[in-house]
Amino acid sequence: MPFVNIKKQYLAFGMLVFVVLFLFNSRPAIQCQFTPEVSTYVPTIYGITPTYARLAQKADLTRLSQTLMLVKNFHWIVIEDSETKTSLVENLLKESTLKYTHLNVKTHKSKHSTVMDVNICVFKTETITTSWYCASGVEQRNVALNWLRGHLKDSDDKRGAVYFMDDDNTYSLKVFDEMRKIKKVGVWPVGIVGGMRVEMPLVTDGKVSGFNAVWKPFRPFPIDMAGFAINATLFLLHPEAKFSRKVQSGFQESEILKYVATKDDLEPLAENCTKVYVWHTRTQKPSILNPKKLKHPPLPDDHIEV
Ligand code: UDP
Ligand code: MN
Repeated sequence: MPFVNIKKQYLAFGMLVFVVLFLFNSRPAIQCQFTPEVSTYVPTIYGITPTYARLAQKADLTRLSQTLMLVKNFHWIVIEDSETKTSLVENLLKESTLKYTHLNVKTHKSKHSTVMDVNICVFKTETITTSWYCASGVEQRNVALNWLRGHLKDSDDKRGAVYFMDDDNTYSLKVFDEMRKIKKVGVWPVGIVGGMRVEMPLVTDGKVSGFNAVWKPFRPFPIDMAGFAINATLFLLHPEAKFSRKVQSGFQESEILKYVATKDDLEPLAENCTKVYVWHTRTQKPSILNPKKLKHPPLPDDHIEV
């Protein structure tokens, strides 16, 4: 056999090459153990999502959670708009691989409001006044911010980005890469919102010079909740920063941003605000037929979580 004829010197040389290659290949792994943390550091993203019970809730949360499972170093803060935590949300979170915090607070809307304007909500604990406006997720996001402050105070690492995420929006993984670059407040375009294909900050010489928005363009920051993220440390520096019921609809974004930034502070991301990495999609309310009114009703399905 030819193998038998190979001279001992060649065999030894071959083995030497093998050993050298082996050592060369394992060098990065050995080095890794001694590399300081700074080179591999990825800031945490705290995603704050209010959510409420409805037929499409599990579908929306499934889609969102499975996107989030692909994001590195992500902490999901989910706040149910309910008196108690539901097993649907609890199980969905447990079954995910996500790092999460599960909270709840109920928005108290009066059932006996005589106010005709559907944009105006009346709250059990407050006097009726027309300057109080209906907005989703105000109490829930504030509860999350208070939790976050406590968490950051107790934590060695106070860095990170805070992103307010509706449960039915559509998020590209690219938007999370963008927000890791934030120094104070990062901004980017949002698709399909405010009556536009895309609502976006305008950029001149690398700075935000204005906004392309047609819905209430007089807002201090005419930008959707999905269009910005804030450095987490700023919530420690501004313990008063919170959302408010006392502002008209569409002003929640401006309300929170006013505590932490001026227009000059905004950092245009997503290739100078020329790319859409998030869409303000809205899940259509499903219409279910009433089984009692059907000639041939389906089998009962109440025991199945949908
Ligand atoms: N939301 C809530 N309670 C409500 C209505 C909405 O917690 O009574 C949540 C909802 O799940 C979503 C966020 O608040 O995560 C924004 O609501 P929605 O998506 O309905 O707002 P829109 O798309 O109309 O701006
Ligand atoms: Mn939505």
